[in-house]
Amino acid sequence: MSLYENAVRQFNKAADIMNLEKDLKDVLTKPKRELTVNFPVRMDDGTVRVFTGYRVQHNVARGPAKGGIRFHSEVTLDEVKALAFWMTWKAAVVDIPYGGGKGGITVNPKELSDGELERMSRRFFSEIQIIIGEEKDIPAPDVNTNGQIMAWFMDTYSMNVGRTELGIVTGKPLEIGGSEGRTEATGRGVRICIEEGINYMRKLGKITKENKDLTVAVHGFGNVGTYASILTAEEVGMKVVAVSDSSGGLYNAEGFSPAELKELSEKTLSRKSSLHDVNDGKYKTITNDEIISLDVDIFSPCAIENTITMDNVDSVKAKLIVEGANGPLTPEADEKLTEKGVFIVPDFLANAGGVTVSYFEWVQGLQWNFWELEDVREALHRKMTKAFYDVIETMEEYKTDMRTAAYINAVRRVATATKLRGIYP
Ligand code: GLU
Repeated sequence: MSLYENAVRQFNKAADIMNLEKDLKDVLTKPKRELTVNFPVRMDDGTVRVFTGYRVQHNVARGPAKGGIRFHSEVTLDEVKALAFWMTWKAAVVDIPYGGGKGGITVNPKELSDGELERMSRRFFSEIQIIIGEEKDIPAPDVNTNGQIMAWFMDTYSMNVGRTELGIVTGKPLEIGGSEGRTEATGRGVRICIEEGINYMRKLGKITKENKDLTVAVHGFGNVGTYASILTAEEVGMKVVAVSDSSGGLYNAEGFSPAELKELSEKTLSRKSSLHDVNDGKYKTITNDEIISLDVDIFSPCAIENTITMDNVDSVKAKLIVEGANGPLTPEADEKLTEKGVFIVPDFLANAGGVTVSYFEWVQGLQWNFWELEDVREALHRKMTKAFYDVIETMEEYKTDMRTAAYINAVRRVATATKLRGIYP
């Protein structure tokens, strides 16, 4: 099954429980618009390389399409469609006025020089500009894209239209219309879901330990995983015992201090190196298979799709899984863990912190009026905890799992918007 088919399968489970009409099911599972672009870029050695990229707008019933752009060698149209599909439910579950979109280029950006990366980014944005707009579709960072790339996107669009448009893209650097708290936002949302997930399990009597005795493993040490691990250690006071990236992981039975995690993240970020490269023999090294099977209370997959599959699901020992990545569990692995009683906070709720602060950034940019960091953090906390407990309420009402309940809440909002707007003409 393709990633998109997997995503639709999870949607269908909720749609059936809600008795969603077939017409609506058809409308809500098909992407509205799919754009593929092939475009040339001049490489440093004078040759020309043609890249392939995509932008998919899944649904715009509740507002403009919104979602990141990733640069990765595995990017396909199918993957971008699945990610755009999840963005629709992500925006709806936290109740921000957006539809879902996503984009990507099939490329390993680490193979490009800085100049090649800039030329490729700018040309791609120019190519997709025909469907982008601050009230039509607003991109943002995703895997392997960052504030600098968003700055190039914003500048490219602004040069093309002859005026600066801050609202065209989010995740921009602070100096050019970014928002305080945007970089940490997805990780902060994950940290909120870890804390609330444990609070809820404690209420059910499934967890008795105090936060300081709870162990956490975070898989993926990009933007999401670094902030999720730092903030969980720093603000929730849990023991983050393992972190990992594509090279493998580091283990510390005592729990990494927030300062140690910050140092690791600075080293891996600035030197573009992996955790194993910067370890210097200080911590025990483990493989990615080992981090998945660690005997910890909480596991947070924050890398890319299909981290837990039928091949490794039996080795998982965590009682709470908080999905920082999009689609880190295959549907079969998800069902198996749910049957085993593992509590899973689903991706499009757990990682919605990023798009929520993107929404705040967009609003600030449209008004040319910027908020303080504390206001952003407070507003994010309010949105995330409300969405979390709204989903818990639906979960209890329908006696279902949290993913299905999150779909029910999100689908209800998008279905209502679709019905109210009607079918044109
Ligand atoms: N790429 C992030 C996500 O998957 C953020 C999207 C956004 O801010 O628009 O949620």
